[in-house]
Amino acid sequence: MLTRRLLLGPFLAATGAGAALLLPRRAAAAPDRAGAGAVPLVMLDPGHGGKDPGAIGVSGTYEKHVALAAAQELKRQLDATGRYRVALTRTRDVFVPLEERVAAAQRAGAVLFISMHADALSDHTVRGASVYTLGARASDAQTAALAKRENAAGQLSGPPVPGTAPEVARILASLVQQETKLGSARMARSVVGEVGRDLPLLQHPQRQAGFVVLKAADIPSILLEMGFMSNRDDEAALRQARHRAVVAAAMTRAVGDYFAHAGRAQAGGPRAAG
Ligand code: ZN
Repeated sequence: MLTRRLLLGPFLAATGAGAALLLPRRAAAAPDRAGAGAVPLVMLDPGHGGKDPGAIGVSGTYEKHVALAAAQELKRQLDATGRYRVALTRTRDVFVPLEERVAAAQRAGAVLFISMHADALSDHTVRGASVYTLGARASDAQTAALAKRENAAGQLSGPPVPGTAPEVARILASLVQQETKLGSARMARSVVGEVGRDLPLLQHPQRQAGFVVLKAADIPSILLEMGFMSNRDDEAALRQARHRAVVAAAMTRAVGDYFAHAGRAQAGGPRAAG
């Protein structure tokens, strides 16, 4: 996939089609992705921050603090494997617009994007972890409401979709998007499998909606809801470093599983990914 992206990039740039979708904002980021055996970069995205607290828990916990603490713990555990480079879209309590989070991942040459949240639902009895991938339509009303609130944090649209692309460029762009979609779904399955071994899951834990932060056309992306701030048990658990370490351990296994399968798919060429 990486090689193909580098090959397609100049073509798409030359045709002027899909460039915004497919190319890193700065060509200087390209060397990160080039070269066989390069250490993959995973971008972690702690939700909210700064003026945007995210959900506020039943006992007053701010989602933005839980999200950052959980992402920092996940970075620590992923770093410890020595198998990845890991970056965060924010390392402090600052506001970062949703579109900038996606752009940062693209500039850095990330090959996997993991957004971390603990939002609130109107039903305070609902608890458990869940994972979301990008979908044109929300899989259910609960998820539609979640995405609506998340997207309101930025009021920004996703990357532009070229309307008058030449046919070939359109096909190539759609291949990349399709591969990204498959990668996102594979990662979501790994997360459900691994997190579900140690922690309670929401019913139907793998869901879809139009989250702006998942709209990178070229980076498999998932959003993890570690639990819900609206539920007393979830909030109490997420306040504890020990619980966040369990979440991070499960996510580290999921990332390992994801890259193990990605390696096989890449070795087999694009067809193997389908
Ligand atoms: Zn959130």
